[in-house]
Amino acid sequence: MDKLRFDGRVAIVTGAGAGLGKAYALLFAERGASVVVNDLGGSRSGDGSSSKAADSVVTEIRSKGGKAVPNYDSVVDGDKLVQTALENFGRIDIVVNNAGILRDKSFARISESDWNLVHDVHLKGAFKVTQAAWPHFRKQNYGRVIVTSSNSGLYGNFGQANYSAAKLGLVGLCNTMAIEGRKNNINCNVIVPTAASRLTEDILPPDFFAELKPELIAPVVVWLCHENCDENGSIIESAAGWATKCHLVRGTGAILRHKITDTVAPENVRDVWNQLTDMSRATRLDSIEEASATLLGVLDEIKSGP
Ligand code: NAD
Repeated sequence: MDKLRFDGRVAIVTGAGAGLGKAYALLFAERGASVVVNDLGGSRSGDGSSSKAADSVVTEIRSKGGKAVPNYDSVVDGDKLVQTALENFGRIDIVVNNAGILRDKSFARISESDWNLVHDVHLKGAFKVTQAAWPHFRKQNYGRVIVTSSNSGLYGNFGQANYSAAKLGLVGLCNTMAIEGRKNNINCNVIVPTAASRLTEDILPPDFFAELKPELIAPVVVWLCHENCDENGSIIESAAGWATKCHLVRGTGAILRHKITDTVAPENVRDVWNQLTDMSRATRLDSIEEASATLLGVLDEIKSGP
């Protein structure tokens, strides 16, 4: 098997002092990348800070002969992370937005600060770090970006409204970055992991937890960031040595008026509700243009009458 290498490439992995980020940083370094190991080193809920987490991963990488430097800034100061990459390694090629915290509360009990901090770390952090790297990606006509979503964002999860909202927000961010980056060979993809870490230790059953090693997901993220991988704008779920692509899908829908001169009443909606919500022939759409084009088809159908 010819090995996928990252020699000469520089990667920032945010939240790389533990869990998934640590596994990503170790694998990038093992494959020759120079790695900025970013971690604020705070608690699971985002309180406090420490240099320990990032330092220990940097020490581990260097002890194995790899190249790494620590960065202790919060991801909301994204330009500082990119500055660390440029000052130490002279370039930036890969940004893995992985840092995360939890402030789980039922929806009715979420405070504004619980909402803001979760959004700051996950969504604003990814925006700030990636935006600071973007001009460098464009100039060199090369870049790879990962954002980290969650099944909690894709499907919802009791007690995680703030987190779910931020996590699905990251999918939207990635969708548009993928479109805007395409012409400059900047690929942006979403990873949806399930892994054993401090975020999941009291959520997942122990037997299941033991099988969900972050190291089993790292190869998926590392492949998505390789120059030979042309995947762009995709959602990739991975856990336990398995991975798949996910999509939003759309049903075929129902016509709510039969003549172009008709209006639509709530009763028209009620009367076709089963057809409108039938997903048995759902398909995926690839772009906003495709979504608009199907609407033109609907209008033609209405114009031509029943
Ligand atoms: P983790 O707590 O082990 O790692 C997250 C790291 O991010 C921590 O080391 C933390 O110090 C760091 N961090 C937090 N806030 C930061 C900030 N402002 N700036 C820089 N670093 C910061 O958790 P993990 O499970 O490895 O989570 C990694 C990512 O994967 C998170 O975005 C999480 O939401 C996501 N995720 C994890 C799972 C899972 O099953 N573990 C599932 C879905 C999504």
